[in-house]
Amino acid sequence: MQSSPILSTEHGNEGGRVNVHDIVIIGAGPAGISMAVEARAAGIASEKVLVLEKASEHSFTLKKFYPDNKLVTANYKGFEAVCTGVMCLIDSSKNETISYLDKTIGDHDIRVHYGETVTKIAKHEVKQLFIIVTDRSEYQAKVVVIAIGILGKPNKPEYRIPPTLRKKLLFDVTTTEMKDSHVLVVGGGDSASEYCQYLIQKNNRVVLSYRRGEFTRMNDINRESVLVLAQRGELEIQYNSTITLIKDASGTPEVQYAEPEYGSRTFDYVVYALGGTTPHNFLKTIGIEFDGDAPYLKEGYETNVPGMFLVGDLSAGTKGGSIIWAFNSANAAMKRIVRNYIGSLPP
Ligand SMILES: Cc1cc2nc3c(=O)[nH]c(=O)nc-3n(C[C@H](O)[C@H](O)[C@H](O)COP(=O)(O)OP(=O)(O)OC[C@H]3O[C@@H](n4cnc5c(N)ncnc54)[C@H](O)[C@@H]3O)c2cc1C
Repeated sequence: MQSSPILSTEHGNEGGRVNVHDIVIIGAGPAGISMAVEARAAGIASEKVLVLEKASEHSFTLKKFYPDNKLVTANYKGFEAVCTGVMCLIDSSKNETISYLDKTIGDHDIRVHYGETVTKIAKHEVKQLFIIVTDRSEYQAKVVVIAIGILGKPNKPEYRIPPTLRKKLLFDVTTTEMKDSHVLVVGGGDSASEYCQYLIQKNNRVVLSYRRGEFTRMNDINRESVLVLAQRGELEIQYNSTITLIKDASGTPEVQYAEPEYGSRTFDYVVYALGGTTPHNFLKTIGIEFDGDAPYLKEGYETNVPGMFLVGDLSAGTKGGSIIWAFNSANAAMKRIVRNYIGSLPP
């Protein structure tokens, strides 16, 4: 394990009283929420479980990246829609999914501190104790579960994005309303397909640029949808297209391609659907070791740091995760936590 600074156990007081939590969970997305639910279902008292979320609300990834009319599919990315723990998902709307997560927080009396970003985690050298430092406070916990997902920093293209075009080059379809516009979507996965479907419904003229010759990463429904839209002439697909540069042409993105048949084209907006990446730096500074590009994980998604777990998208590898994956990974982590930590430690 890389060395983490040892902090004094005097830290971690909430309102003057030291409360050593059984579990502190970082991130209130599907994985963090279900982790707290699993802890409650395992009999851990509400005041011994704490979720820290940097956004002002839970399920921020779903709210920001899912198009409003999206069907949230239970078998996303081809994962089997089988739930092993307390929480489960069937095909639902975006609102139904968020309401389910919302209701679960209330039903299980889960304490979430919103608007609090975790910046550092240090392990006590002797005791099974972590100090969790946020931009507002410090906490102590026997077990730490990191559920911060991979979309904090969406993947960016290799070429430079002109700063003057920041409002036109986007990484989601919810922060800027796009209507009756000419939009280029870049990507070839499920998100790219869903963005195209959503933007077409909003009366935009949509072009999809993909590096490859066929859509092998989309699920069947999303692949079928883009192919049908293209057949109907509602979507233009630029297969085998490589964007080399985007220029500011009087406030409009001018897209230049490597392939002569695509040449250069202007759009009102460009939306990137390139996925996200594991936050390597954050994980490495808190002592987590990597096996190549992926964090080294034991059974139950425990890292090399005893008592520190990764769940949700962070535990899913290069394929990326899903909501049911997040729920099931929390259940697997809880089994190991109960077996090895909670209960076996002094109160
Ligand atoms: C466009 C799109 C469509 C998708 N469609 C589906 C679908 O139909 N079905 C499906 O099953 N899956 C779908 N997914 C995947 C699914 O959303 C993810 O697998 C799931 O959200 C992962 O949950 P998570 O809790 O691991 O991470 P996230 O949902 O990303 O949650 C992480 C949370 O951690 C918080 N956080 C980050 N850093 C910190 C910090 N330092 N301190 C405190 N909090 C922090 C974030 O604000 C966030 O709330 C889709 C994803 C995208 C992008």
